[in-house]
Amino acid sequence: MRVLGLLLLTYVLTAPSQATPFDAPVYHYQGALKVDPDTGHIAADWQIDLLAGQSGALTFVLAPSLGNIAVSGDVTGFETGEQGPFQSLTIQLEDDARQIGIRYDGVLLPEPMDNDINAISPERVELTIDSFWLPVDAGFRGFFTADLTVDVGAAWRAVANGEVTQLPTGARIINSGPSLDIAFTLAPDFRVSGQEGYTLFDLRDHDEGRDRLIVAADFCLDYLNARFGARDPLPQISFVIHRRSESAYNRRAYITLTDISDTPDDRLTQFVCHELAHHWSAGADFMTVENWLNESFAEYTGVMALRERHGEAAFLDRMNGFRDQVAGQDLPPVWVPGATERRPYLVNYRAEPIALWHLETCLGRPAFEAFLVRYMVDGIDTTPDLLAMLEEVAGTEARDWFEGRLAVSDG
Ligand SMILES: [Zn+2]
Repeated sequence: MRVLGLLLLTYVLTAPSQATPFDAPVYHYQGALKVDPDTGHIAADWQIDLLAGQSGALTFVLAPSLGNIAVSGDVTGFETGEQGPFQSLTIQLEDDARQIGIRYDGVLLPEPMDNDINAISPERVELTIDSFWLPVDAGFRGFFTADLTVDVGAAWRAVANGEVTQLPTGARIINSGPSLDIAFTLAPDFRVSGQEGYTLFDLRDHDEGRDRLIVAADFCLDYLNARFGARDPLPQISFVIHRRSESAYNRRAYITLTDISDTPDDRLTQFVCHELAHHWSAGADFMTVENWLNESFAEYTGVMALRERHGEAAFLDRMNGFRDQVAGQDLPPVWVPGATERRPYLVNYRAEPIALWHLETCLGRPAFEAFLVRYMVDGIDTTPDLLAMLEEVAGTEARDWFEGRLAVSDG
């Protein structure tokens, strides 16, 4: 569960502004989820529309703890099996099947997950794809829109990666943008603080770090919208502040933070700006080598924001820290023609931001800024398209140099 969890967590499950083949919606999920916060038992009832019609077999991944599986609709049969640490659910479809129903129940997390992100307790219900509480197309290409009702049996409040309507004993979550996840936190209460452009939902019982977070978030909203937001500004953001000290993640306009009490200001700036930058830096196929675009541009934008707010020395300090982290590591090249395989953390979050820094130094800051804005605003989602754009902005020599720079991981 861990490998895939980390893999998905590091990516924003968000669609770019323009449709691309890999994340166009394949399904619409309509569902009802009942959760018992005391026992951890869940019961789900889904109706899944296969938007283009499908034939043959269709495999979903589901948590291994879930049982009593029933499948209905345009199907001829189904079987369950193992898929790594998960459960596979392979459904035989009728020809040109348009709709299937899937029901199941069980205690989702008999053991707590390592990172505490997915949890069902009297304090909160927080679920993401990483627990596979919902059936997910096993190819991880099955993006879907969703309309889900969550019933926790009490008047809890909800925050989610979609539009939330409070219900007497839960919430309805509507995701009209294609995603691979329905991620949400429900809790008996949050301490809510409405700000300009975003809302803080605090699960802690104190305010430590809150004012500093507000300053950082205000800075990032201005900094990013001024650069990239002319046509497509940041949406209204919901930040959930959790009690845990690790594991933050981002799904569209739903961003969860750790307990930020002790997080230094420069880290807050870098982290919040990184997460928000994914509003634009999210279109590359996250299962492939091209995921470096999503993460490296968000990460370097976060460090540039740190430079803007906290100064050149803080910036140098951070980038030299990145260099130390990759020094002596045997890392694959970021990108070479024909590469396909998704790169490790140190490449996407460390080696490649260093390469972007190198490019900024070579081009000069104004030209790099033009390049960065084009990347974000145009929704560039492959390395060849990025290199073509770089050539337009800065010439053939710059393009050739950067392509060579991408072929080494520690230049
Ligand atoms: Zn990221």
